[in-house]
Amino acid sequence: MNFFIIGGGVAGLSTAYVLLRQGHGVTLADAKRPGQSSWAGAGILCPLPPWKYDEPTNRLALGGMRAWPEWAAETARLSGHDPEYWACGMEFDAAAAGEHALEWCCAHDFPASRSERGGIWLPSVGQLRNPRLIAALTGAVTVLGGKILSDCEITGVRQAGGKVLAALAGKLEYMADVFVWAGGAWVGQRLGQMAPVPNVRPVRGQMLLYAPGSHALEHILYRDGLYLVPRRDGHLLAGSTVEDVGFDADTTPETLQSLHEAACRLLPELRTRRPIRSWAGLRPGSPDNIPTVDRHADYENVWVNTGHFRYGVTMAPASSRLLAELMLGESPHIDPEPYSWQSGFGRHWQGASAC
Ligand SMILES: Cc1cc2nc3c(=O)[nH]c(=O)nc-3n(C[C@H](O)[C@H](O)[C@H](O)COP(=O)(O)OP(=O)(O)OC[C@H]3O[C@@H](n4cnc5c(N)ncnc54)[C@H](O)[C@@H]3O)c2cc1C
Repeated sequence: MNFFIIGGGVAGLSTAYVLLRQGHGVTLADAKRPGQSSWAGAGILCPLPPWKYDEPTNRLALGGMRAWPEWAAETARLSGHDPEYWACGMEFDAAAAGEHALEWCCAHDFPASRSERGGIWLPSVGQLRNPRLIAALTGAVTVLGGKILSDCEITGVRQAGGKVLAALAGKLEYMADVFVWAGGAWVGQRLGQMAPVPNVRPVRGQMLLYAPGSHALEHILYRDGLYLVPRRDGHLLAGSTVEDVGFDADTTPETLQSLHEAACRLLPELRTRRPIRSWAGLRPGSPDNIPTVDRHADYENVWVNTGHFRYGVTMAPASSRLLAELMLGESPHIDPEPYSWQSGFGRHWQGASAC
């Protein structure tokens, strides 16, 4: 079967990767460069923290966490780009830990113990380095025979009898048997005649980067809503904000300053350092952080994989596996109902902090 995927973030690329491995034909189009949006994330492979989320969020997150070591190794082998999977572990502070955290971990077969600081230590949590992950996924997709179209903005579709026949990019038409709409924060907008995906909207996150040599941290640390993520080469990330500001993807000096101050409180060595870089990205926000992985309500051959909000990297292997199962008429490995179009309609925003 031939698939056309609109959107080359981690959701679109991982869907392409799953379909190609099963022998299908895939063309993927991105309005800019694939991954230019997913690039911005921290690559932590864990909800913050998992016990604060409902089961539908965790089912995809835990499935993704289990799959990533193999996915990282295989995409590295195929592409020659190492996405730098590192099972470095993560420590949550006591406030985030709460009293039921250890019980939750035990019930979910999640290795955990009390940390020295009264928080929770999760030794199996891993991370990926986003720009390298994008290189590994795009490389693997290409090696497997997928065609990637950059600077190709899809502006609408040609339809007939409840089916999409072609995706339109200016005067060009791309035909396929099946279309996947994985446009991240942009799926909440109409795409030509195609209705928007319910309740998905952009949520900005700002991030800081420190140079190697500024710290001796060897695991991910989370306190008071802020995380620090050491990279293998010594760089350190500090993030992130959760801001409901529409499609504004700029950083703001006041927020960067307060992120820096919060990072210094967490790791006093940073007081003598300045960040070497900062950026912002737009997450495809969804109420309760539950994505939509389902057929588009208007068309029998259009599917969506979107709304992964804060955990699009974590969830990617599990949600693209689920989508492929649904599209190919196989029995899904998890109950797909919470991720249905209809369920997405039923959930409502209570402000960005409801994530
Ligand atoms: C600061 C920050 C930190 C984060 N940290 C983490 C983390 O630690 N762990 C984690 O799991 N997740 C994290 N995330 C979330 C994660 O990055 C997102 O959930 C994920 O990137 C969403 O991927 P996506 O493919 O759905 O969307 P995107 O990455 O936004 O990709 C969508 C793509 O679609 C393209 N597109 C849109 N419209 C069209 C069109 N009409 N035609 C063609 N192309 C189109 C866009 O150009 C874009 O490239 C973070 C996000 C941010 C911003």
